[in-house]
Amino acid sequence: MAQVKMKNVVKQFSEKLVLDNINIDIADKELVVFVGPSGCGKSTAMRCVAGLEEVTSGMVYIDDDVVNTVPAKDRDIAMVFQNYALYPHMNVRDNIAFGLKARKILVDKDDPKAVPRKLRPEEIEDKVQRAANILKIPDLLERKPKELSGGQQQRVAMGRAIVREPKVFLMDEPLSNLDAKLRAHMRTELKRLQIELGVTTIYVTHDQAEAMTLGDRIACMNEGIFQQIGTPEEVYDKPVNKFVAGFIGSPAMNFLEGKLDGDKFVTPAFSLNLPESMAVKVVKNATNPSEIILGVRPEDIEDREFALNPSTANTVSVEVMVRENYGSDIFLAVSVDSIEFNARVNTGTKARIGDQIELAFDMSRVHIFDGKSEKNLTI
Ligand code: ADP
Ligand code: MG
Repeated sequence: MAQVKMKNVVKQFSEKLVLDNINIDIADKELVVFVGPSGCGKSTAMRCVAGLEEVTSGMVYIDDDVVNTVPAKDRDIAMVFQNYALYPHMNVRDNIAFGLKARKILVDKDDPKAVPRKLRPEEIEDKVQRAANILKIPDLLERKPKELSGGQQQRVAMGRAIVREPKVFLMDEPLSNLDAKLRAHMRTELKRLQIELGVTTIYVTHDQAEAMTLGDRIACMNEGIFQQIGTPEEVYDKPVNKFVAGFIGSPAMNFLEGKLDGDKFVTPAFSLNLPESMAVKVVKNATNPSEIILGVRPEDIEDREFALNPSTANTVSVEVMVRENYGSDIFLAVSVDSIEFNARVNTGTKARIGDQIELAFDMSRVHIFDGKSEKNLTI
């Protein structure tokens, strides 16, 4: 059982503000992903939970205990990093067991009178075997790290974390050194493992796809602030601002600058009819209705012929600049006057480079952002 809480956490490195008042409540057994661009403060936030950085102000809780002054080694956490640094001269068994041999461990956590003690060799072997079985590497225990693939090495690093049976796993870009295919595979394994072990986990990555697929919830970070914390569906379908909308999703959301005129979103090249409720929200909430940004995901723009929601669709005539076939769908980069955007359309499309085609926008799926604050005005 472990909840993790960060309350009003601020972290400064000399004058530089790196975490600007972070708040998050992580439930027992939950996997929360900290995601954001490089340098936004993800690792620092995790290191504050680990006890590897001291917070400048605010509180870090594990369960109901404030751990601000508890040293990292006493926080009952296990970390896995991108550079997993196995001991090259030790075999897999000894690498996994290393952390168990070196320290005293509270063996029976449910017994209030239990005190930490060194494990007996057969207890260590039992834990190593169990971890190796969970990770599907029982036949690799005699090997040295250099005799393992990247994925196998990463499993051994995970094994070291698992045998500790910690309250919390902290993982900082643990899959970044692996090639794309193996990364996707390990991601699935990791998710399975985390559910199986039921250990509260914070996972740091700059990769939004990893965040979407792994997280029970995603904490999307920029410039030392959690911009939005929510389920993958929430941050994808209801992004609170232009940053989250643009960061989550690939290919990225299109942003078109324009102004409101009645129920219409008007650009210099074309106009689109907004659903009435959306127009009302823009009028009510916009700093200036003449400075707004329409956000639309490429998959919500379709070749007119294949449009799913003709009732809510608006069409725009565009020229095809780029056409890429992904098998499952076709990616088009298009332009109209000097405005460019991307669409992901049905493979049945007849569109070819240089063609003039009609694209249909599903207006029930678009967002309008404030031109100044960049807040989503329409959720
Ligand atoms: P991320 O993990 O999101 O890429 P980090 O948390 O590593 O970002 O870093 C956030 C910011 O804090 C960066 O600008 C980085 O240079 C700065 N930073 C991190 N650690 C230190 C440190 N020990 N001293 C000074 N600045 C640091
Ligand atoms: Mg980092």
